[in-house]
Amino acid sequence: MSARGSGAAAVEVDVAIVGGGLVGASLVAALGASGLKVALIEGVAADAARQPSFDDRTTALGNGSRRIFESLGLWDAIGPSSAPIRHIHVSDAGRYGFARLDAQALELDAFGFVVTNRVLGGALRTRLAALPALESRMPARCTAVTVHEDCVELHTDPGGLPLRARLAVAADGAGSQLRAAAGLAASEEDYGQVAVVAHVLASQPAEGTAYERFTPQGPFALLPMVGGAWGVVWTLAPADAQRVLALSDAQYLAALQQDFGWRAGRFLRVGARSAYPLKLVRAAQVTGQRVALVGNAAQGLHPVAGQGFNLGLRDAATLAELLIASRGDGTAVADPGAPALLADYAARRASDRDGMVRFTDGLVKLFGDQRPGVPWMRDLGLLMFDLSPTAKRALSRLSWGFGERPPRLAQGSSRVVGP
Ligand SMILES: Cc1cc2nc3c(=O)[nH]c(=O)nc-3n(C[C@H](O)[C@H](O)[C@H](O)COP(=O)(O)OP(=O)(O)OC[C@H]3O[C@@H](n4cnc5c(N)ncnc54)[C@H](O)[C@@H]3O)c2cc1C
Repeated sequence: MSARGSGAAAVEVDVAIVGGGLVGASLVAALGASGLKVALIEGVAADAARQPSFDDRTTALGNGSRRIFESLGLWDAIGPSSAPIRHIHVSDAGRYGFARLDAQALELDAFGFVVTNRVLGGALRTRLAALPALESRMPARCTAVTVHEDCVELHTDPGGLPLRARLAVAADGAGSQLRAAAGLAASEEDYGQVAVVAHVLASQPAEGTAYERFTPQGPFALLPMVGGAWGVVWTLAPADAQRVLALSDAQYLAALQQDFGWRAGRFLRVGARSAYPLKLVRAAQVTGQRVALVGNAAQGLHPVAGQGFNLGLRDAATLAELLIASRGDGTAVADPGAPALLADYAARRASDRDGMVRFTDGLVKLFGDQRPGVPWMRDLGLLMFDLSPTAKRALSRLSWGFGERPPRLAQGSSRVVGP
């Protein structure tokens, strides 16, 4: 490969991915057998307990995401540790509005599969370790980026030679520094809510039912986990979240019981609690010169509908598909950072991103609205939804995203992973 950019010595790669969290690592996995020379820069060692993307949060994977992991040959490592969601119960706390969804009635095996980020991270880490051609800089932070006409130069700490990539992918999360270095603007809206997350054991083990309860402070979700535990995502105003974090385990269980009620029986034990301030971050564009954004670097959503990672995984799967397709039979010299490829990526992701941002943001605002008459309208809406199989069928399609054309990996094609 000829020298480009500043002309100084550098390691030349086709694609450099900054951020090896869930989405960045998934993109590396999808490009694994592509023949492209890929570099990954991740600030935290993959096996570190403090890796923020691979923590104890539970992620509800939609059916489309399951398909992508199947196509990548990773589902065997993830599936046995995931719990299917076969029933969903949605309610407006303290009011009469509710809706129920039953997977079987919609001819689905499940609406999704709940797995901890640690399990997902473990499966991805094992795959990445088996990619000998990967230029892995982990742990290393990307500290400086210069975008040239024909490449992006990335410096890392710890150092070594800089990387020179024809395409740089920002998978470095909602506060993406690569996004900023590429001059791509992002808007940020603080929801004034904090999600307090924990795993809980109850007298009634979780058996395929997910509860989503909307309260004036924010949504409250109980998700079934493998082994019968429940994953709790309790959204609160920041001061209340601090108070809940400071409670003893017994006090936490009592407060949870009071807020959630007895649908899961008596809450018996709780594990470690962690907190996530919630905001909507949205990049105005997902591409710039020789740069593409994926996952939270492109859009960070409220977890109300459990869609952030699912959407980010479709970003990664779509970008991988386009990069691999651009290589044709592997003999042509294709430019992975070509403007046409990046324009294709932006176009392919537009409706899914827009739809998901509007849907999740709309849900948070609709159910947070306490103006006179609004809760009553909501109750009516929920009850009408409960009676409408058509509306339920439409909602269940969210598992595949809003885009007209899901990535090929989500259609069960593994061809995209090979050249
Ligand atoms: C409470 C909660 C519940 C959720 N539940 C769900 C759910 O059920 N379903 C769902 O689909 N989504 C869910 N989400 C959303 C999901 O967790 C995120 O969308 C997903 O983790 C984003 O992954 P990412 O890889 O894009 O970003 P991140 O997880 O933020 O990873 C970014 C990575 O980049 C690295 N990094 C950053 N800067 C640098 C740098 N300069 N150099 C090197 N490395 C760098 C970081 O170390 C990190 O590993 C939830 C989110 C929350 C908060």
